[in-house]
Amino acid sequence: MRLYLASSFIFPRSLQLRLFAVCFVGTHLPLAAFLAWAATTSRLDWPGAIVVTVATLLGTVIAVGGIYALLAPIDVAARALNDAGDGEITPVPQLSGSDLAARLFAGVNRAAGATAERMRKLSREAISDPLTGVLNRRGLLQRLDVLSEHETTGALALVDMDHFKLVNDLLGHETGDRVLQDFAKVLAGTVRHTDLVARWGGEEFLVFFRGATEAQAQSVLMRIAERIRNEPLAHVGERPLTFSAGTTAASRRTLEEALRRADGALYEAKHRGRARILSSAEIQS
Ligand code: GH3
Ligand code: MG
Ligand code: MG
Repeated sequence: MRLYLASSFIFPRSLQLRLFAVCFVGTHLPLAAFLAWAATTSRLDWPGAIVVTVATLLGTVIAVGGIYALLAPIDVAARALNDAGDGEITPVPQLSGSDLAARLFAGVNRAAGATAERMRKLSREAISDPLTGVLNRRGLLQRLDVLSEHETTGALALVDMDHFKLVNDLLGHETGDRVLQDFAKVLAGTVRHTDLVARWGGEEFLVFFRGATEAQAQSVLMRIAERIRNEPLAHVGERPLTFSAGTTAASRRTLEEALRRADGALYEAKHRGRARILSSAEIQS
C-alpha cells in the first residue's frame, strides 16, 4: 500500500493512467536504451529501429487496452459500492473462479446484501411500534401518503383503553405491555388487511378503515368490544378491561380535521362513562 501511495503523484486522479505510465516506461526503456546505444556507437540500422519502434508502440496499444479491460471490475465494484452508500443497492455479476476480481465482486455483493438487509430493517423499525408491531404515527402517515386520493377516503377511529393506568398499578407494567400487545393483535386481526392500524401513543390506537363508511367502522369496533368482553385481555378490579373510541369520516386531505373530530368524540365517550363507541356526528348534534 505504501508503494501505491508513493506512486500517486503520477496522474493522481486516474489509476488507469498511472498503470499506463508504468507500462509505458517499462516497455519503452529497452527501446530508448537500444536507440541510444545504436546512435552513440553509429550502428543505427534504420529499418531495424523502425520495426522495433512500431512493435513497441503496438505493444503499448495492447497494454493500454488490456489495462482498461482488466481494471473494469474495479470500476464496476467502485460504482456499486458508491450506489450502495447512496442507498441504491445494485448487485454486481457473480464471476467464476477465485481471482482478485471474483473475490472483489463476491465481497461487494456480500456488502451490498448486508446493507440492503440493514436498510430494510431500519426502515421497518422506523415505521413500526416496537412493542406491538403495528404501525407507529410516522408509519401510518407514510402509508397514507403513498396512497391515492381515492384510496385514502374512509373512516377513522381513535381507540383508547379505559382506566389503563389501573392495569399497570394493579397488575404491573409488564402485564400492561402484554395487554397492549394482545389488544394490537386483536385490532390488526379483526380489521381488513387494507385497513391501517397504528399505535398513536401510550394506550391509544388509530384505525383507518379504507373505503369504509363510519357505520361499517363502528360495527367492526363493536365486534372487537364484544370479543374482549367474552375473552378479557385483563381485569381492572372485577371488571374486564374495556376501550372507548371516537369515529369520524376521513380522508388523507382532511386528516387533521378528522383527527380533531375523532378526538372530540373519544373525549365525549370517556365523559359519558367509557366502554362506548361514539361518532363525531353524535356530539355535534
Ligand atoms: P382513561 O380511561 O381516561 O383513558 O384512563 P387511563 O388510565 O387509560 O388514561 P391515562 O392517560 O391516565 O393513562 C394511560 C396509561 O397508559 C398511563 C401509562 O402508564 C400507560 N401506558 C402508556 N404507554 C404504556 C406502555 O407502553 N406500557 C404500559 N404498560 N403502560 C403504558
Ligand atoms: Mg386510557
Ligand atoms: Mg390515553
